[in-house]
Amino acid sequence: MYDIIIVGAGPAGLTSAIYARRANKKVLVLEATTYGGQIINTLDIANYPVEPHISGFDFATKLFNQVKDLGAEFVFEKVIDIIDNGKSKEVVTTKGKYEGKAIILATGNDNRKLGLDNEDGLLGKGVSYCATCDGAFYKGKTVAVVGGGNTALEDALYLSDIANKVYLIHRRNEFRAEEASVDDLKEKDNVEIICNSNVTKLVEDGKLKAIEVTNNDGSVNTIDVDGLFIAVGRIPENQNFAKLIKLDEAGYVEANEDCHTNVAGIFVAGDNRVKLLRQLVTATGDGAVAATEAIKYVNILIRGEKNDV
Ligand code: NAP
Repeated sequence: MYDIIIVGAGPAGLTSAIYARRANKKVLVLEATTYGGQIINTLDIANYPVEPHISGFDFATKLFNQVKDLGAEFVFEKVIDIIDNGKSKEVVTTKGKYEGKAIILATGNDNRKLGLDNEDGLLGKGVSYCATCDGAFYKGKTVAVVGGGNTALEDALYLSDIANKVYLIHRRNEFRAEEASVDDLKEKDNVEIICNSNVTKLVEDGKLKAIEVTNNDGSVNTIDVDGLFIAVGRIPENQNFAKLIKLDEAGYVEANEDCHTNVAGIFVAGDNRVKLLRQLVTATGDGAVAATEAIKYVNILIRGEKNDV
């Protein structure tokens, strides 16, 4: 029986593990893929206190090692269900079951897809969701980026220094991204911004050859591209808890700044909860709050058990 089981080894989950271990709790971190969450794909973190510049990989690795050194246990298995048995919770993974007194859900979120027919099949064959991971494969080539948020604009800027030509395709003519990024992108000679348009078809011959772009006025253009970077936002990874945990319409866990969910003993931290700002600094902040609340909850349970004896 663990005191606290943390689901997700991104910055929120790992920070909560630091707090829980420093309170001497028995901690298990469950992670479906690898440690670090989405920050591991960030080339340069420049808005986190103390370190003016650090790569996402270095940040995540330092954090992971810090948590390991503090004595948290790690199991790399995907959580598929959580069962609330009151004073204990059962966490079911694809390979086994783990029992904990308290749970922290720090599952973050995953790439939103365009939903095109061959999108999944072309992953790694011209389609990518991560410019910093795959951009280097497109040196001197032609690529397109879809989206109008900060990620899409940053991806397009990043790719403009690698690729020969970059198209940015956005479904409206106003951007969610910071104005400064939009201005920077407009300065680039090798970038063409196509607004009021959607990518409606991926043309392939085993790998991506071209994209069909449909304007909101109905006109259709086919553009030859070697790569397509999809940056249309992210969706919270809460589907496996939906029958137990209250989610909002968009699928985020309903929780306030105290990180409590609707179930006693289950807490949430990071990008998968309803919140104003999803950034590294707010994710680590959530990790600290959720762990502190979970520690309090576990201590009350332990005191109750001692009184029962
Ligand atoms: P986002 O801000 O939600 O933007 C998603 C973009 O994709 C929007 O422009 C949206 O269009 C478009 N979109 C959504 N679904 C689409 C679809 N099916 N087809 C075509 N376009 C679609 O997502 P994000 O850019 O990944 O950013 C996520 C969060 O991280 C934001 O809070 C962002 O500020 C933050 N972030 C911050 C930084 C930074 O501070 N340096 C860097 C990256 C991300 P509409 O605008 O029409 O809805």
